[in-house]
Amino acid sequence: MLRLPAALLLLCSSAVLAQPPADRAERLLRDILIFDAHIDTPRYFVDEGYKLADHHGYYELDIPRMKLGKLGAVLFGIYAQPQDYPPHLWLPRALECLEALHREVAANSRDMEFAWNVADIERIHRSGKLAALASLEGGHLFADSFRILRLFHKLGIRYMTLAHFRSNNFADSMTDELVHNGLSKSGRDLVAEMNRIGMIPDVSHISDKAVLDAVEASRSPVIASHSSVKAIAPIVRNVPDEVIRAIAKKGGVICINFHAGYLEKSAYDVYIRNWPARDQEIKDMLALKSTDPSRWELVRGIQRRYFAQMPKVDYKVLLKHIDHVAKLVGPDHVGLGSDYDGISGMTPVGMEDVSKYPVLVKGLVDMGYSNQDIRKIMGLNLLRVLRANEQAATEKP
Ligand SMILES: [Zn+2]
Repeated sequence: MLRLPAALLLLCSSAVLAQPPADRAERLLRDILIFDAHIDTPRYFVDEGYKLADHHGYYELDIPRMKLGKLGAVLFGIYAQPQDYPPHLWLPRALECLEALHREVAANSRDMEFAWNVADIERIHRSGKLAALASLEGGHLFADSFRILRLFHKLGIRYMTLAHFRSNNFADSMTDELVHNGLSKSGRDLVAEMNRIGMIPDVSHISDKAVLDAVEASRSPVIASHSSVKAIAPIVRNVPDEVIRAIAKKGGVICINFHAGYLEKSAYDVYIRNWPARDQEIKDMLALKSTDPSRWELVRGIQRRYFAQMPKVDYKVLLKHIDHVAKLVGPDHVGLGSDYDGISGMTPVGMEDVSKYPVLVKGLVDMGYSNQDIRKIMGLNLLRVLRANEQAATEKP
């Protein structure tokens, strides 16, 4: 093997760092894989006939804006919040959203393709198209049947969040009563089955103890698909340093959530204070206008009005969350999980939608991150965990 002398290597890397930051960001953006672990658009396909092909002035993702933002791959979230739907609708709603995602991807085959594995993502990215993948948000969605879980894997689900806003039979949610003191025995069996078929265990939303249990139970690295840092914004949905360390130690990745209220506590306080009134207003309006085609615009209007009451949060705070994880456990263990289209428009200033990822690349360049570390943070770390779960699976699809 050809080995460069250390001095020459140093010269090469300092030459890269010496490039003007704008040039470095520009070069990176030519072929960098930007991979977001959590975007919630599919429910809009079902409820509103939202079309990915059109450029929208609302919501946070469509193909024209994905192209502007150089977004290469997305794990789309399939979900039915347990508090919003009666239990008998959880599974059908999840299947409807997943069907709608496949249909929408197929309808835009010139621009995007469904990815079933890491090799697909790399091939699709090289071809200049967008790779779409799917994830399931909440262990309440598969009727507690491992047969259905395996079928979800065959339909393209590549990670599952163990619990959503409510505790379930497998895991305690961090926003509900703690009923198992972490993972239940069934929760450990679930993690083992996910490892067996190559579905990543996702620990966003679950209690800190449940995360530690899941990390310990899992043979493969886990992810927190959309969680921010508690040391910066001490709110219930964020993860403490102890949990970040445990996930990293197992080779996993913390994908930072862009929700303005999760990035800064002062914004969260206003958001959480307004939540009941905002949701009631939306519910009342929808009940009154259940067939009115303008009702979704009215929902967005209510959301915008409440969002305007929150203090503005700059995208630089998001960079601070990324930097915290990178400094704490290394740049191999942080990624992006924007939660776009799942955060009711509560985005930071400067990162309003998927067209803005280049802002983060430039920001990381300005903070002195190396090209390789920026590539890892923007996508390769997540790809690595996906590959590790794929390779460790003993039942191949
Ligand atoms: Zn979520």
